[in-house]
Amino acid sequence: MTAARLFIVPTPLGNLEDITLKAIRILGEVQLILAEDTRVTHKLLQHYQIRTPVKAFHAFNEHHAVDYFVNQIAAGTNIALVSDAGTPGISDPGFLLVRACREKGIVTECLPGPTAFVPALVASGLPCDKFFFEGFLPHKKGRQTRLKRIAELEHTVILYESPHRLVKCLEQLAEYCGPERMACVARELTKIHEEVRTDTLAGLLAYYGSQAKVRGEIVLVMAGK
Ligand code: SAM
Repeated sequence: MTAARLFIVPTPLGNLEDITLKAIRILGEVQLILAEDTRVTHKLLQHYQIRTPVKAFHAFNEHHAVDYFVNQIAAGTNIALVSDAGTPGISDPGFLLVRACREKGIVTECLPGPTAFVPALVASGLPCDKFFFEGFLPHKKGRQTRLKRIAELEHTVILYESPHRLVKCLEQLAEYCGPERMACVARELTKIHEEVRTDTLAGLLAYYGSQAKVRGEIVLVMAGK
């Protein structure tokens, strides 16, 4: 009998078709699924008629829940970790659990699958041979330092951003990197209103700055220096 393991299972960004056959099988075979938001995960499981029990594992209980779940795996329970969308660990909880499993010698398997930044980067038309994943910029403390750093990078830079902060972020990037720097806003990927718009920072600012309200989930990709 093989020892129990931790499976990291990527889930769709918005379109339920974007899940692998292996992900469906693993979610059905494990004894427990850890989910960021159990309501979101239940919808996915219902769609695929998966009846595995689900428990919450999110940024607020992650620190003290890690030891408990690592001990459960060590005792023989196969566990899958999912987030609301995309790959756990990428701007989502996961890292602490994976590190703790590795330290205990527990095999951790991360399935390949959806993550927002890869389709955004590749569809942007900006160089995708070398890139730097910044994720979310800090809102206040440390923001200027990060902006200065990414402005100097020669690789394509990838940011996650919320819709109500997009215009402010574009303004700051234009200020630090110059308004002629090329960038791309990839919005609502895989969903009905998907939009991938590549232009200068000034052009993107003119477009999104003139909208009453920007909606949806956003990946911002910016060309290197
Ligand atoms: N774990 C996820 C991944 O693998 O990409 C990221 C989770 S992070 C909490 C959520 C952010 O991912 C959103 O604010 C947005 O920047 C990006 N994102 C998620 N879904 C997206 C989509 N359908 N279109 C564009 N960006 C998306």
